[in-house]
This record gives sequence, structure tokens and C-alpha cells, in this order.
Amino acid sequence: MYHYVRPKDEKFPNLFRLDINSFKKQLDYFEANYGFISKDSFIDSIRNKEKKNGVLLTFDDGLICHYKNVFPELKKRGLWGIFYIPTFPLKHNKILDVHRIHILLSNCNVQEIYSYLLDMDIEKIFDKNKIDEFKKLTYINQKNDQYSLIIKRILNYYVKYNERKKVIDELFNEFLKEDFSVKDVYLSIDNLKEMQSEGMIIGSHTENHQVLSKLPTKIQKYEVENSFQFIESKIGFLDVKTFCYPYGGFHTFNNQTEKILYNYGCDFSFNVEQRDISQNDLVNRVHALPRFDCNQFKYGKSSNN
Ligand SMILES: [Zn+2]
Repeated sequence: MYHYVRPKDEKFPNLFRLDINSFKKQLDYFEANYGFISKDSFIDSIRNKEKKNGVLLTFDDGLICHYKNVFPELKKRGLWGIFYIPTFPLKHNKILDVHRIHILLSNCNVQEIYSYLLDMDIEKIFDKNKIDEFKKLTYINQKNDQYSLIIKRILNYYVKYNERKKVIDELFNEFLKEDFSVKDVYLSIDNLKEMQSEGMIIGSHTENHQVLSKLPTKIQKYEVENSFQFIESKIGFLDVKTFCYPYGGFHTFNNQTEKILYNYGCDFSFNVEQRDISQNDLVNRVHALPRFDCNQFKYGKSSNN
């Protein structure tokens, strides 16, 4: 699983990202030590419920760097990947809150943001029931400076959904001078079409990139079905339907989510759990396939230097 793969960039000076050279080195490392699984072989493995070996590459969030940096490199090497797209930015031409948080952390003094958040009325804006539940589970594997980590936790998990946008708007007004557009962050529908025509698989990552387990079943259903329908309406029928959970981890979805995916005819879905796919996963739980973060392997560490 990869997120940002890009060089240092003045527009996002402190973004946590995997450098392109590290990405290339990691591809070499995978090739030398494990080998990659072909697309046909992987799809066979899903359809026949039969475990096969090899590395599969996935890229979350529909980021522009996946088109600019990842796609050309995969093409050059004759590789393929799965690209999981949250459809809200393409549909509404707006940046998702989760990525607005990355912009804040990359472009502002995090200590100042932290102090500012502490001065807000925490009792009013926090979802109190969720605090203990999420405290130990979130971002366990992320290397980040402490303030960024706490700010991410506050904004992604503890703040009530109906207050979150307001809080982030306030932080943008207070700390950011520059404007950021959808094009600075996300790839376009034309990019997706081109990637698909060159053998990449395009999957759904919901519409709004929310923690699905927090949402009523009806809304979960909307998030799954609408995102698939939007993608298909723009780039054509998806003969392989695949999905991955926003944020990931067993706390981010529930039985209802898996049932919705199954009923919709989705072929397989990725969770985040640091282990290989087993035969048992393919037979019994194809909508919670485990997946490693790239930082678990040599050359895969992100940094903001
Ligand atoms: Zn995501």
C-alpha cells in the first residue's frame, strides 16, 4: 500500500511522502526478493480462491503523484497496480478533509496548530464515545512527529463529523495564505481513463473517505455504491470490482460493510493488516484482505525532509 510518492515540492514543503528514488529502489527490491504477480494470475487467484505468490501494488486516494510518478514507472517496467479512488473530489471539485489536513501539516507550524486546537472548546467538538476506542488503534505504524500525530488523531477521529469541516475551515483561514486546488492534489478522470487503458485497475475508495464503521448502514451503502457508479459512469464498466476501506484496520468497517460489498458484486476488498493473503482469506473473507504498508519493507519509509 502506497500513498504519496513524489519529490520534495515547494507547494507542499513538509509533506510526508515516499521519494520517487526510494519507490524505484523498492520496486527493484521486490523484484529481486519476491517477484510481482501478474494481473491475470492475481484475478485467477481471487476467482478460483487459490493462493498464489508475488507482490501486488496498490495506491490509495487518487493522488496526482500516482499519475505523474507511479504510472510511468510501472509502465516502463511492464508492471500493473490497483488505484483506489475516493470520488468526492472528482465529482465536486473539492479537496477532501483528510487531504486538507495533510496540507495543513505540510505547510504550517504544527505546534501552533496544536495549541490552537487545545484552545478550542474540546468538550463541544469531540465525539466523547469514540476517544478510548480509537486511542490505541490509530496510526500505530506511522512515523510522524508528535504534534502532527496528535493533530491527525484529533481531526480524523475525535472531532464529531458535523464539527470537523468547520474546524478545518477555521484552521485553513487562520494558518494558510495560499489557495490549493483539486488539481494540486488529485489525478483527473482523463488520467484514470489512460491508466485503465494501459492495464491498471481502478477501484473504489468510497465517495467521502470517511470511517465507514461510524456511519449508519444506509450511508455506508451509498458510499460504496455511489463511488462505483460514478467511476463506471466516467471510465466505463469495471470488469473487476475492487474496494479498499478508508484509513483501514478492523475498527474502520463492520459486518454490514462486508455484506454491502458482497451484495454489490464487488470481487475483493483490501483492509490494512500487516500480513500476507492466506488461503483462508480467499475462501472465507475476501472483503477484508490483509495488506502491508510499504513502510514495512526496505526503502519504503516516508519522510518530510
Ligand atoms: Zn485513503
